[in-house]
Amino acid sequence: MKVEFEVPALTKFPEIPVIINNAMAHCQPFVAKPEYQTQLGYPGELVEDWHDKAIEKMRELLGKFRSLRVFMDTCIKCGACTDKCHYYLGTADPKNMPVARQDLLRAVYRRYFTFAGKYFPKLVGAVDLTEEVIADWYRYFYQCSECRRCSGYCPIGIDTAEITMAAREILDHIGIGQKYSNEIIGKVHKIGNNLGLPKAALLDTLAGLEEDIQDQIGVAVKLPIDQKGAQVLLVTPSADFFTEPHIDGLIGYAKVFHRAGIDWTLSSYASEAANFGVFTGSYEHMKKVAMRIRTAALALGVQRIVVGECGHAWRVAYSFWNSLIGPFDFLDPNYPVPQHICELTYDLIQQGALKFDPEVHHDKVITFHDSCNVSRGSRMGDTPGGQFTIPREIIKACSNNFVDMAADTIRENTFCCGGGGGLLTDDLLELRVKGAMPRAQALQQVIEDYGVTHMAAICAICKSQFAKVLPMYGMGMDMVISVHQLVGDALIMESEH
Ligand code: SF4
Ligand code: SF4
Repeated sequence: MKVEFEVPALTKFPEIPVIINNAMAHCQPFVAKPEYQTQLGYPGELVEDWHDKAIEKMRELLGKFRSLRVFMDTCIKCGACTDKCHYYLGTADPKNMPVARQDLLRAVYRRYFTFAGKYFPKLVGAVDLTEEVIADWYRYFYQCSECRRCSGYCPIGIDTAEITMAAREILDHIGIGQKYSNEIIGKVHKIGNNLGLPKAALLDTLAGLEEDIQDQIGVAVKLPIDQKGAQVLLVTPSADFFTEPHIDGLIGYAKVFHRAGIDWTLSSYASEAANFGVFTGSYEHMKKVAMRIRTAALALGVQRIVVGECGHAWRVAYSFWNSLIGPFDFLDPNYPVPQHICELTYDLIQQGALKFDPEVHHDKVITFHDSCNVSRGSRMGDTPGGQFTIPREIIKACSNNFVDMAADTIRENTFCCGGGGGLLTDDLLELRVKGAMPRAQALQQVIEDYGVTHMAAICAICKSQFAKVLPMYGMGMDMVISVHQLVGDALIMESEH
């Protein structure tokens, strides 16, 4: 693909770039059309009294979320976060330093909500809210993937993702929304999934997959949908229904359920695990999207809800479902609510219910990309760090050649793929490619040192992003693989079930 920007060169060791002012000032996502704004209850375009409305919304958010006010007040400008953002490392734009991104909102906060900022603005770096400031907010809060890597290094624990979410929420309320995220949220409200796939298309796809599996391995593995009374409702990102490498992950889940004899179903009403409400900072939309899953679980009478491979879906499920759509007293208390597909598979491996032939993957050397929303926004299993160990243990159970990337690029320090947080859209391709540079660099290192051939992931956004941008760094798009593809391909299916 021909691109009109320079793809960063991969160096042997990470380098902190020299600042290039306004390097990404030209970059911003398409603005949502009025019809996509109004369907979500936002003004169609910039309102006349945008200034007062924005300040009012900021006041409301500061009152609602004490954490936001603390984050606005407590930065000590220590600089620990400045070189931790993949977008700064990939673009060299100083406004992509986390502290500078925060300051876009903080400077306005100081002007309108602090004594010093009201009376001595210049002394405390307070600024008036102007159209230029709003334009900067739109640019640079949509150059943050809400990955929270910077927060892990901040001695105060300031969460830039929460600040980004607040800024996007304010922008939506004055009529400036992002096309990509707001169109998708609208589709989920109307149809049930991000892709706008109707039930007939889902049925068709699932029937086709059942035939493919039967042809490939001679086993009648089912992918049931809307099956009342099933034990498990699986909610998964809709990318799993239609594209590589996601779809092989879906086949992997189906094989696990089949092999373990678990009665499961998908839902045509809740055919999406992803929840873009978290990206736009709207708890209202996050709740409405998530509520479809509760409604489907009740209607189908299931006892468990399992979430497929999707980073931010798992973050929303793990960290927000209970307060958004709980209680889950109608589900089987013997299982965690929600449960990640990796937790389910790992438990089955521990029980000896799944057997693998790791030799199937003899031609692969596999590494694992920790998705930021899983790593820093949730956990798995009963022990701290389960979100890091469980996917790795699964990969090691079904293959023989696993290596990790450099320690400061994995687990809680993982680099975002560059496409998270509502940025997986081609109008932000330059940002996505540049933001992927730190991950590509760490990957390049294990390719050179250990001959890594595949990078497994458990997030639909990461998989899509890598499949698109890794080729620009000279790597194959097919080196990105679902963890449950590895599982499904190595799973020994013959059984007495
Ligand atoms: S949350 Fe992630 S993308 Fe946003 S500023 Fe921090 S490191 Fe950068
Ligand atoms: S690490 Fe935290 S306290 Fe230090 S500059 Fe960054 S946001 Fe401020």
